[in-house]
Amino acid sequence: MNKKFEQSEKNITGKAEYYDENGAGVVIQGNMKIPVPFLLKDEVAELTVVKQGKFFQSKIDNLIDKSKDRVKPKCEYFERCGGCQLMHMSYDAQLSYKTKFVKSLFKKHKVENTVGMDVPYDYRNKMISTFKFDKKIKSGFYKLYSHAVVSIKECMVQDRLADPIMETIRQLSNQYKLKVFNEDKKTGFLRHVLIRTGHYTREVMVVLVVADRVFPGKGQFIKALTKRHPEIKTVIQNVNKRQTSVVLGDEEHILYGNGTIKDQLMGLTFSISSKSFYQINPIQTEKLYALAVEMAELNKDDLVIDTYSGIGTISLIASKSVKQVFGVEINKSAIKNSIRNAKANKIDNVQFVQGDAGQVMVQMAKERVPVTTVFMDPPRAGSDEKFLSAVVKLKPKKVVYISCNPVTQKRDIDYLMRFGYKIERIAPVDMFPHTAHVETVVKLKLLK
Ligand code: SAH
Repeated sequence: MNKKFEQSEKNITGKAEYYDENGAGVVIQGNMKIPVPFLLKDEVAELTVVKQGKFFQSKIDNLIDKSKDRVKPKCEYFERCGGCQLMHMSYDAQLSYKTKFVKSLFKKHKVENTVGMDVPYDYRNKMISTFKFDKKIKSGFYKLYSHAVVSIKECMVQDRLADPIMETIRQLSNQYKLKVFNEDKKTGFLRHVLIRTGHYTREVMVVLVVADRVFPGKGQFIKALTKRHPEIKTVIQNVNKRQTSVVLGDEEHILYGNGTIKDQLMGLTFSISSKSFYQINPIQTEKLYALAVEMAELNKDDLVIDTYSGIGTISLIASKSVKQVFGVEINKSAIKNSIRNAKANKIDNVQFVQGDAGQVMVQMAKERVPVTTVFMDPPRAGSDEKFLSAVVKLKPKKVVYISCNPVTQKRDIDYLMRFGYKIERIAPVDMFPHTAHVETVVKLKLLK
């Protein structure tokens, strides 16, 4: 048998020595490091471990020694649903786990305590549900590392507005006998629903992701939905015919409202469309942005570039304190949102450029734009050498690097440090309570 597929099962008793990057407790047996989901550090348990090639699948059969950090999860779907990984860990322990994780990367530097939430529930402003048919239409989230849908009626980390709307959508889908999309056979219609909520405005966007442009009973469906939930300000039909785990397809039809909702952050109003990135925890976003702006030590002479700018949130928030801001973002609908957001907030010292952040930075370096401050907030993969080498050429005095993946952030910062930058502060912010994700803001300064 090919070694890659060789499978063996064992029962062992083991103790979790530390956590891996997914928040699983790691049990060491000989030269094997076995990640055990939902096992806390220092806990001892009897386990069933299946080894397949290099990978392990493990399950707790009997917990022998419990950690003082163990709590009863507030959610009945925890462990079955792949959304949260840490609901069995007290919130204080979660925060210190996140601080330690960042510290394990930035070994030589001081890492501040992770900024947590007062109430770490009901925070998510974006929910993506997937459908399944089991006697009737049900909806929920994927199991971890799987495309099996766990049927869910209530999500504890989601804005409270979302569950009742999903309930109505399930009910109407059953009433109108819509067919659930089958990923293997590529038949059927209903795929996902994306619900976005404005935390302060209480406005809701519903995106129905379906496999066909023809939507049977569309008019009545939308009328019933929006009548029952007047908080819904816009409904979008997104057509996704592809066999892909990417939720949204390219084709969109606005069925109700104007295709956007509004939200507020730090006193400014933002318009958001379905495909634009928008931070998913609005309460923590305000803390994150306040930290980032504080770290940038902005003043009226500053010329700022906000790269990976999304709908322009950081650009607009920083604009009040500086001479001029350039926002750079690759996504066209996000750029449209940012231009509209600048106008709506009557801000005229910000300019948005659509394009690859690396390319735009290279151009700016060529033109020797006298940039003093760079905000960077790339996706999980981090930035690239093109971008970083242009930063080094532009020589901004201050760089504030925000990241949802401290591993790639550390890699990029190592590059900047080789070219004269030094770390002044590292502050993790808990944007995603009960999950293993960590967000970090790092302040860098150019050495004279
Ligand atoms: N700063 C924003 C968005 C951060 S998310 C906020 O706080 O809301 C990262 C953003 O980078 C996304 O909007 C994504 O569309 C954009 N992006 C991804 N690759 C990019 C690239 N190569 N150049 C510019 N922007 C990019």
